[in-house]
Amino acid sequence: MKCSFCKKDIKSGTGKMFVRNDGRIYWFDKKKCEKNLLKLKRRAVKLKWTREKKENK
Ligand SMILES: [Zn+2]
Repeated sequence: MKCSFCKKDIKSGTGKMFVRNDGRIYWFDKKKCEKNLLKLKRRAVKLKWTREKKENK
């Protein structure tokens, strides 16, 4: 699988999985990526996903 943040390949057996309460699964190769994505998740949600679902904001 690939890191959900930096998109680098993660060797099997390494990395960390994170499941959001909406069911989305993230993989991180390092803590830095995890922190960055989780820290920025609100912004990422607004920029990416909600644009798909709530186009008429
Ligand atoms: Zn990464």
